[in-house]
Amino acid sequence: MDLLVINAAEVRRLMPMASCMDAMETALKQLGRGEAQNPLRSANWLPEKRGILLAMPALTDEAMAIKVITVMPGNHGTPYDSHMGAVILFDAQFGRPLALMDATEITAIRTAAVSGVATRLLAREDAGDLAILGTGVQARSHLQAMLEARPLRRVRVWSRGGENREAYVQWASDELDVDVEATESAQAAVTGADLICTTTAAAEPVLRGAWLSPGTHINAVGASTATTRELDSEAMAMLCHFVDRRESALDESGDYLIPLQEGEIDDDHIRAELGEVLLGSAPGRRSDDEITLFNSLGLAVEDLASAQLIYREALSLGLGTSVEFGETVGE
Ligand code: NDP
Repeated sequence: MDLLVINAAEVRRLMPMASCMDAMETALKQLGRGEAQNPLRSANWLPEKRGILLAMPALTDEAMAIKVITVMPGNHGTPYDSHMGAVILFDAQFGRPLALMDATEITAIRTAAVSGVATRLLAREDAGDLAILGTGVQARSHLQAMLEARPLRRVRVWSRGGENREAYVQWASDELDVDVEATESAQAAVTGADLICTTTAAAEPVLRGAWLSPGTHINAVGASTATTRELDSEAMAMLCHFVDRRESALDESGDYLIPLQEGEIDDDHIRAELGEVLLGSAPGRRSDDEITLFNSLGLAVEDLASAQLIYREALSLGLGTSVEFGETVGE
């Protein structure tokens, strides 16, 4: 029995942003219809919370997958990505492991692709003044996703490190042919913007309600634990809140749970899951003035759908490295 090993460069080649956005839309609808299982992820911390090992399983009638990934925030500035691991794809008939894939690239692309789907769904049609907070892996993939979601008029970026900002501007010019302005403060990046992506590893708010303009759409991606957040309570209180999944937000979202504990928002604050809006069973943006938030926690069904797409493409293009793995009866 063979296992197909698909490395990071192959994942990039096999899953362009536009295809991934389509796959994410399908996966979120499937979840909304109750056709996928997405148990809460299991999170295990290293001493002093230096890093975390996450296990994220997802199942449908067709396939199963588990992403096993480490998150090491201290890796920023080292040769290593802050997220590393593998996605294992299984068939749902015999339970055979079919493929092992690089999870760093899958996470980078699928997270931004879901924000791209949210932006297509919730941002104003004329939105195109983008601010990105953060200059790391997600900041890069989010620029690619925003370019797919809306024609961009202007792009500003901020993170704390001046060198990181300059490297980002250079990368956007070299790789995407996009002019990005680096700003000295988060406020300068977001003032007047109508699209904002927060992609930082910050524990305390980097985006304040006082800086937001009516009609803005925000994708908040960086905070995915109950004790960290990127938006302040004032911002959360003034916006319309959409999530990938309620159960994940109730368990993992500091952006939601901290203002809830402070009494700044109520427990009916979440308007809908993206899948519900995609299926038409819940409303999306209701007026041009609403500020909409997609609060991303990241779901295993997104990794499963990515793995299925990558596996299909790898087979059709003959990519990946096949290794002999398990044995079948009689072998
Ligand atoms: P990177 O390590 O590549 O980038 C982290 C970014 O955050 C850098 O731009 C860094 O820039 C900035 N940063 C770090 N610490 C702080 C701080 N205390 N305050 C403000 N900015 C800070 O990580 P990724 O891009 O891979 O991930 C970014 C975040 O997104 C992480 O928190 C990660 O856990 C989360 N994530 C969420 C996913 C989801 O599905 N929702 C999926 C994957 C990641 P500088 O040092 O210049 O400020």
